[in-house]
Amino acid sequence: MKHERSSELFELSKKYIPGGVNSPVRAFRAVGCDPVFIDHGKGDRVFDVDGNEYIDYVTSWGPLILGHANEMVLEAVSKAAAKGLTFGAPTGVEYEVAELITEMIPSIEKIRMVNSGTEAVMSAIRVARGYTGRDYIVKFIGCYHGHSDGLLVKAGSGAMTESKPDSAGVPSGYAEYTLLADYNDLDSVQKLFDEYKDKIAAVVVEPVAANMGVVPPLPGFLEGLRRITEENDALLIFDEVITGFRLAAGGAQQLYGIQADITTLGKIIGGGMPVGAYGGRKEIMDKVAPTGSVYQAGTLSGNPVAMTAGLTTLRTLKDNPGIYERLEAKGAKLEAAYKAKFGDRACVNRVGSIMSAFFTPEKVIDYDTAVTSNTEAFGRYFRYMLENGIYIAPSQFEAMFMSDALTDEDVDRTIEVLNGYEL
Ligand SMILES: *Cc1c(COP(=O)(O)O)cnc(C)c1O
Repeated sequence: MKHERSSELFELSKKYIPGGVNSPVRAFRAVGCDPVFIDHGKGDRVFDVDGNEYIDYVTSWGPLILGHANEMVLEAVSKAAAKGLTFGAPTGVEYEVAELITEMIPSIEKIRMVNSGTEAVMSAIRVARGYTGRDYIVKFIGCYHGHSDGLLVKAGSGAMTESKPDSAGVPSGYAEYTLLADYNDLDSVQKLFDEYKDKIAAVVVEPVAANMGVVPPLPGFLEGLRRITEENDALLIFDEVITGFRLAAGGAQQLYGIQADITTLGKIIGGGMPVGAYGGRKEIMDKVAPTGSVYQAGTLSGNPVAMTAGLTTLRTLKDNPGIYERLEAKGAKLEAAYKAKFGDRACVNRVGSIMSAFFTPEKVIDYDTAVTSNTEAFGRYFRYMLENGIYIAPSQFEAMFMSDALTDEDVDRTIEVLNGYEL
């Protein structure tokens, strides 16, 4: 496979953009090769600038659950764009999306649109603090909630240092209000509530962790978080930026039967356009300006073109439950193939259409077990898959995302390539 034009573009980009990319993981640094530059996508495939074709398991890191360049979404977006790109004034499509989401995720009674998942979680935490009058939050080691200052602490595949921010430029004072617990370990949460009694505003969690690779909640974990937060008058924030509309039309809350107080959304909600949102019970959301005293605003929030892409995607998901059955079947088939291929050498974790194969013999249930993975071995496997036309996330600590556009033939082709890999 030739990557000449990609290499050229990468060199040019590096002159003008830090690392040549607009989001770090795109630089492929964790897998020992240079990134491919994408020209276009269609269905379950992407095509790079050298004319190579790949079956895509990144799908823009999750948003494209209907696949690339979905015709219904494109048509709706073109019509919306022709009416004008943005007004900074309310439009009817915003209430339509809001109403639809409250039907799909019943714990959300009111919702506010923003422009990214980062903004959604940052704002949700501000509301939780404003509502409870408390300052501390609990997050889990290895969970990622965007790159806002207070949340960039032990945030997944980033740098790992002692109880300090993961990033330079974050004052240590910001991170002091972020208390860390271990994923799938209720005792670690209970200890924090004992120590910081009446000071914790909220627990924020990925109901299925997917930013240290896919780590499902153990039975009772989410139920335990619900109980502990209720006992302590703290809020439970489900960060469903990945799981929302992906694991079920009603997200992880539907799948596991637990209601969050505040839910954050992103990725699929924009159908490929930049959208995030946070929503929850009425009395909590009414704390947000202009009804309440928690300030949050956005020039392009609720952008009509982006809302239209989201609305078309969400309606399709709500009206076609068969999509989730198909995703489950494809996921199960791939999972079985990976388990057969790697046996004891890898831990394959999957929930519906997100999956990770960790190159470790250990059972991965949290951050500590995830990092026992052999990232060199992952890099070798990644480069082999890419060279054979299978595009997966360039990091051990990310998920494979399946889309409804993924055909059975392409699942079979993926398995054929996988089986050709020399261990
Ligand atoms: C991607 C992600 C975010 C951040 O969303 P952006 O749109 O990239 O800012 C937050 N939380 C989770 C769980 C995510 O996966």
